Amino acid sequence: MSLHKNVSRRKFIVAAGASAVGSVLLKSCATSPTTTTTASPVAGSGGLETTKINLGYIAIFEAAPLIIAQEKGFFQKHGMAEAKVVKQASWGAARDNVEIGSAGGGIDGGQWQMPMPHLISEGVITKGNKKLPMYVLLQTSTQGNGIAIANGRADGTSHLGKGIGLDVSKAKAHFDQLKAGGNPFTAAYTFPSANQELWIRYWLAAGGIDPDTDVKLIVVPAAQTVANMQSGTMDGFSTGDPWPFRILADNIGFMAALTSQMWPEHPEEYLAIRADWVDKNPKATKAILKAIMEAQQWCDDPANRAELAKILSGRDFINVPEPILNPPLAGNYKMGDGKAEINDRTKGPLFWKGSRGNISYPFKSHDAWFLAENVRWGKLPGTTDIKAIVDRVNREDLWREAAKELNIPDADIPKETTRGVETFFDGIKFDAKDTSAYLGSLKIKKVK
Ligand code: CA
Repeated sequence: MSLHKNVSRRKFIVAAGASAVGSVLLKSCATSPTTTTTASPVAGSGGLETTKINLGYIAIFEAAPLIIAQEKGFFQKHGMAEAKVVKQASWGAARDNVEIGSAGGGIDGGQWQMPMPHLISEGVITKGNKKLPMYVLLQTSTQGNGIAIANGRADGTSHLGKGIGLDVSKAKAHFDQLKAGGNPFTAAYTFPSANQELWIRYWLAAGGIDPDTDVKLIVVPAAQTVANMQSGTMDGFSTGDPWPFRILADNIGFMAALTSQMWPEHPEEYLAIRADWVDKNPKATKAILKAIMEAQQWCDDPANRAELAKILSGRDFINVPEPILNPPLAGNYKMGDGKAEINDRTKGPLFWKGSRGNISYPFKSHDAWFLAENVRWGKLPGTTDIKAIVDRVNREDLWREAAKELNIPDADIPKETTRGVETFFDGIKFDAKDTSAYLGSLKIKKVK
């Protein structure tokens, strides 16, 4: 979003006020993209504590609801006329910018991998380990991630035809051979302790490969990942749409598995905002939630898919051509290495609703899984009080209030803060009510 666009929008709002003209424009904005940037907020938006917030995003599908809330006028509709999504160069930059806050030129919150909001709140990944309380408010999307494997290495070692798939135990001999040769399988992710590292660790361990001793795990900036796969310095990469499709389209590698195969409708990325901002601006927070909830419904509507791809492909956003964005939005994935293609809308990114109910609602049970995995791999102490951290950070109560104000049907509002027992592709079960039982059931782990 350019500055001048915001300025002209503000001028218009001043001119139109909350008049009847505004409501007429608001109605038309729901169907016509051309009026979006001049839509006026609804009457009564004056009751908000502020109309301004800076929300960070990373240029991947998970950011779509934030981008659409801005581009289709949903923020304005709910009175957040100066809400702005701000592209972040990396997850580390997003963390740095939320520590600064918008008053210092940073951001107030935005899109996060999990459990970054909890780790920032607890001072685990902040400068000087300073605690910066944050609130998790909404899940932006589920699925749409996968584990990509390079075709091979510069020395001629090939990863093709070695059985690297969902069940990686079939490729154990190949992994053992690489390790014995002194150059173990090297897998990368873009930020430690969060989704991408946790997906790759779970996948390896489920196949009997110890991520701490049998392979090398490295952090690679997102911008370098494709180059590293092409040059063969990185064998595997945990990544989000549109990269899984692009890696196949560019013949750089193949897909071992989609995360939707590992854990259908798994928790993925979230909206979280600094607690001090939310505490100061509770009405504005709910206005943001309502805007993003409407954007999520818009994103899931097949009638809007072409326009969604067009908006996301923009230079300000994902900056990838529409033909690369359309297949994953339709759940179409080439897997490569002899695997059947996946053509199933329910396996791609989903934003509002899936077969297991609402996707936007932030289940506390899902936050607990991300923290339990950090305990599993020795990144958090075994004594960590997972429930206490989740109770401090997760504000599903605000999501519920916003959903009621938006007249979301009761059937689409989860009754409990847990989605119940989760079952992974390897048969392992997770129940947030007993994280010790989960940790005890895992064969490969660091925690005692
Ligand atoms: Ca992701």
